[in-house]
Amino acid sequence: MPKAVGIDLGTTNSVIAYKEAGGNVIVIPNAEGSRLTPSVVAFKGNEIIVGEHAKRQAILNPENTVISIKRKMGTDYKVKIESKEYTPEQISAFILQKLKKDAESYLGEPIQDAVITVPAYFNNAQREATKNAGIIAGLNVLRIINEPTAAALAYGLDKQEQILTVLVFDLGGGTFDVSILEIGQGVFQVKATAGDNHLGGDDWDKKIMDWILEEFKKEHGIDLSKEKAAMQRIREAAENAKKELSIKMETEINLPYIYADEKGPKHIQLRLTRSRFEEMSRDLMARLEAPCKRVLEDAKLTPDKIDRILLVGGSTRMPMVQEFVRKFFGKEPSKDINPDEAVAVGAAIQASIIKGETKDIVLVDVTPLSLGVEVLGGAVEVLIPRNSAIPIKKSQVFTTAADFQTNVEVHVVQGERPLAKDNISLGRFILSDIPPAPRGVPQIEVTFEIDANGILQVSAKEKSTGKEQSIKITGATRLSKEEIDRMVKEAQQYAEQDRKKRELIEARNRLDQMIYTAEKAIKDYPNVDANVKSELENAINHAKEVFQKEEDVININKAIDQLQNALYKFTSTAYAATGASASSNNPNPNASSEQNYKIED
Ligand code: AMP
Repeated sequence: MPKAVGIDLGTTNSVIAYKEAGGNVIVIPNAEGSRLTPSVVAFKGNEIIVGEHAKRQAILNPENTVISIKRKMGTDYKVKIESKEYTPEQISAFILQKLKKDAESYLGEPIQDAVITVPAYFNNAQREATKNAGIIAGLNVLRIINEPTAAALAYGLDKQEQILTVLVFDLGGGTFDVSILEIGQGVFQVKATAGDNHLGGDDWDKKIMDWILEEFKKEHGIDLSKEKAAMQRIREAAENAKKELSIKMETEINLPYIYADEKGPKHIQLRLTRSRFEEMSRDLMARLEAPCKRVLEDAKLTPDKIDRILLVGGSTRMPMVQEFVRKFFGKEPSKDINPDEAVAVGAAIQASIIKGETKDIVLVDVTPLSLGVEVLGGAVEVLIPRNSAIPIKKSQVFTTAADFQTNVEVHVVQGERPLAKDNISLGRFILSDIPPAPRGVPQIEVTFEIDANGILQVSAKEKSTGKEQSIKITGATRLSKEEIDRMVKEAQQYAEQDRKKRELIEARNRLDQMIYTAEKAIKDYPNVDANVKSELENAINHAKEVFQKEEDVININKAIDQLQNALYKFTSTAYAATGASASSNNPNPNASSEQNYKIED
């Protein structure tokens, strides 16, 4: 059977791994012999260079070099290289193609099936874009899974009997993510996630680069920051020095012939101690704190409730970072697996599970925000609440808001606020050709289905005809982790205000329904006593006025009561006249469930 691989498609570096029949996971080296492939793509004439070679020439050839494309996944951003444009999916596909090709020549056999990882906060559009990148690269994408989930799999935490609360601390080259998962009996749930999209090892490199430039300026009075070739060498030297300081207390930076002027060649020869490096990185270290606090708050946990901490991402090798984690969470983090490989290792394990080579595991990820449809009056009816485990399928029956309405619009929204306009609009579609009927009669079943890759499909079906319409939600959202956090916070902040608005919409909908029922009663029973009839007509006119103008729930409820009383009197008189029992046939307006007025046209 061809091998199924796991791929960590990272912002800075990517990694590919596979699980051997015997159970070991092998991280596959690339053609340059390295287990990490920089996620860098460069264009030189007709040639496309990916990985280490592309990274090496990045400063010399910045216009034609693409870095950190992962940050643009799921957006309509285009990379312009000379006269050609590339989508983020295409650029990512170049990276995946290199991983695939190098792995094929290492293994001596073709590769097709792959599991690719994404950050837990990636939305539909970003997951779909990642999947497309895989397809463009010629891969059969078995599944898209969350990076922290993959890391936990790499640590074998799926085999745990009791429920564990696991914190995954992931500091890579360009991003910082911290997630809390609950894991037990093979089920993984991401409880909360936070981070900083613009904090990573590159920032620590920059500290050393700035220091080198400053020292050089002090000694020679020359500013090297505009010298591209020199900067390329300084960048590499800075990263190497940083890595060395993870194992040594002091490092030397030697860059001979870095510059030459009429007085001759100039060299850089500097010593940097770990303590000096830590001193200069203080502001970066301080930025780790807020996301750690936030993730605990969102998961409603205190540090003592965390059972395990996993370190992921190359930058967690820095002793100052490990010390921070130890102090902040009061616990020794696990670092048995190479932090820059853990995610790919977990993805490889997941690939082998899907292919049936490993058994007994269910993967559950969760939806970051609630998903629902807009209903009458602009309110949202949530079908899939935030933090629901995926894959998931939920259906609800809605109906029309007007008599003989033949179209309904399904407006799909994502967010925590009760009014559609305050949330993100994911897409709309129209279900047409509904057989004409009084309002409330047609039955329209709306189904939300999120597959294991987190991709959402929404369909609406008119039950009597079976006519169906659906959309796959892909490019519409541009949700970053910050946006998710912001939306959840806003929902808390505006909770009281939103509750009142929703109450108002619901009261207005009830009044509207009551007016409809009362008007229908007048039509259905033309022979009722004129006085009783005109009393009801007056009540209807008053209710209509209230409906048009009133913004106060108490006054709307009053109008509902008045109309209800007039209607009751009217129907009682009508039934008495026909000899029927008022209670058995009373078109009690309150009996119409809310469900009847869900979707407007
Ligand atoms: P990742 O995105 O997980 O591959 O992490 C890449 C980042 O980790 C880069 O900024 C690397 O410079 C950094 N990194 C890798 N190894 C080390 C190390 N030994 N010490 C400090 N940083 C490292």
